[in-house]
Amino acid sequence: MDKRTFIKSIFLSAAGVFALGSSSAVKAARKKRKWNGEFVLPELPYAYNALEPFIDAKTMELHHGKHHAAYTKNFNTAVKEAGLTGKTALEILSEVSKYPPAIRNNGGGFLNHKLFWKMMAPATGQQPSKELMGAINRDFGSFDTFKEKFSTSAKSVFGSGWTWLVEDGGKLKITSTSNQDSPVMDIATEKGVPLLCIDVWEHAYYLKYQNRRAEFIDAFWNVVNWDFVSQRYIKSITPKTT
Ligand code: MN
Repeated sequence: MDKRTFIKSIFLSAAGVFALGSSSAVKAARKKRKWNGEFVLPELPYAYNALEPFIDAKTMELHHGKHHAAYTKNFNTAVKEAGLTGKTALEILSEVSKYPPAIRNNGGGFLNHKLFWKMMAPATGQQPSKELMGAINRDFGSFDTFKEKFSTSAKSVFGSGWTWLVEDGGKLKITSTSNQDSPVMDIATEKGVPLLCIDVWEHAYYLKYQNRRAEFIDAFWNVVNWDFVSQRYIKSITPKTT
């Protein structure tokens, strides 16, 4: 090997090493971006005191930082034990009848609260969009009748549970579930895409309202994030293109 060839080969192998290094760096970055299957407690989209005076800061802090955090942690454990790592919460819950109760309880707790936080916002007098209001009027007669039916359903939940407004085949329905069950679960008697939900477990209101669940439900209407609920409605009635 003459001097020139030697220098050239050094240069090429260095370029090769560089190219190799760069492509494995790209692969590592891709891997990093890929979800590792671990469920994470979502951050609240507002401060703990943002829903005052309707929902107090201390309740929000415990509800999110303790209750929701525990569901998230226990769901991760149950998912690992059941060998379901990599599936989304929605995938798991839509066939929850196949899995142990820990998946149903903690998976429901994880996903229900994740939705619940986003379905609320600081009180600014938000209203449903024209499209959603039209659907509410069509399926319940009026907005007031809808609110009354939803509130009555939430007040009537025996023990712990949730009340939901769901979209099912283009129609809006109100349904309630026990414990951490949800309308996305295959075991639900009334299924549908959740648009709005209220948590009526005592931990959601007891510090401020004690046993007065009805007062909490009345207050809840002030902090409904109708912009988000309206967007979910449009998304749920729009045919999937992919
Ligand atoms: Mn809760």
